[in-house]
Amino acid sequence: MAHLIPFLDLRREDGGLAAETARAALRVIQSGRYILGPEVEDFEDAWSAYCGTRFCIGTGNGLDALRLILLAHGIGAGHEVIVPANTYIATWLAVSQTGATPVPVDAKLDTQNIDPARVEDAITERTKAIIAVHMYGLPAEMDALAAIADRFELKLFEDAAHAHGAVYKGARAGNLGNAAMFSFYPTKNLGAIGDAGCVTTNDEEIAQAVRRLRNYGGGGQVGKYDHQVQGYNSRLDELQAAVLSARLLLLDKSNARRWARAEDYLMSLAGFPVKFQESGGGRVWHQFVIRVDAQDRDALRDWLASQEIGTEIHYPVPPHLTEAYAGLGLGSGSFPVAERLANENISLPIGYDVEVEAVARKVVAGLSVMESRR
Ligand SMILES: *Cc1c(COP(=O)(O)O)cnc(C)c1O
Repeated sequence: MAHLIPFLDLRREDGGLAAETARAALRVIQSGRYILGPEVEDFEDAWSAYCGTRFCIGTGNGLDALRLILLAHGIGAGHEVIVPANTYIATWLAVSQTGATPVPVDAKLDTQNIDPARVEDAITERTKAIIAVHMYGLPAEMDALAAIADRFELKLFEDAAHAHGAVYKGARAGNLGNAAMFSFYPTKNLGAIGDAGCVTTNDEEIAQAVRRLRNYGGGGQVGKYDHQVQGYNSRLDELQAAVLSARLLLLDKSNARRWARAEDYLMSLAGFPVKFQESGGGRVWHQFVIRVDAQDRDALRDWLASQEIGTEIHYPVPPHLTEAYAGLGLGSGSFPVAERLANENISLPIGYDVEVEAVARKVVAGLSVMESRR
């Protein structure tokens, strides 16, 4: 797995801020305060300011953040929530964990995001919300989704785990619906050194509800042993918050660097038999994904690995085809676009110091090897 050009080396992602991160961590270790303290409050303020939302509530991870959003809106057993067929399974799991049922809608091939034109057909009288995922950093078509949500009186939520810093029509991801979740899992564009996540929203009642739910249903400002609901334990900790505050100072720069690398890929691979996800001005690049013929995909990855280039697939199995969701009875062929993407996508390295031209040259060479094998 240790390729000369690895898919991602987290030790290199910190850029010039490594010392800053270490100082932040030491500050927490020496503070004697480790859960729900000033570091968490500072980061929540900084992240809500960055996203342009009134509130940010830190959580233990992204999956919990999304589950708490749904619970705070009263979503649970007997309800349905529209989810993209093309996403990481966590989007679906958050819905299932509330007792509600995820109802998938297929993607558009060029955006890889949920296809707004297919949403209406999936709505029933049990539908309560739509979750949009900004796949690989490309904002979903939020205007079209909001129009549908308005018409059917649904909530619109964002799974913004890929989209730290993305902008859609002048507003940041995290500020494009009724509430949003971010994951700060270490590989995300803003990453912690462990699990971390948050909810952003402009709705004060929802913010309060999430605050209660993350901390045993009470606690904090509302009184340490005053439990108003049966909550959970999913808190952002001081260590992660301090690291995130330090790294947040680098986010725009690191997103700009990723954009430059993406443009290099787009240029170097133009005219070859690969397809790209839409670029869209306000997007960020969480992953740089190319599509190749499904019959070549795995062989090309193997060939690139033999050339010391690490790649990944995000994601090889769409949630409806996992064993976990076999119970929904949505077999192969249910969501042709999502299934096609799972068979054609390859994520190329886009990390801190990747030499894009070197990778692109190998991809081009690999494609002609695939061609000659036919
Ligand atoms: C990473 C991710 C999540 C889950 O976040 P965790 O912090 O790992 O719980 C959810 N949705 C998407 C699209 C993700 O990429």
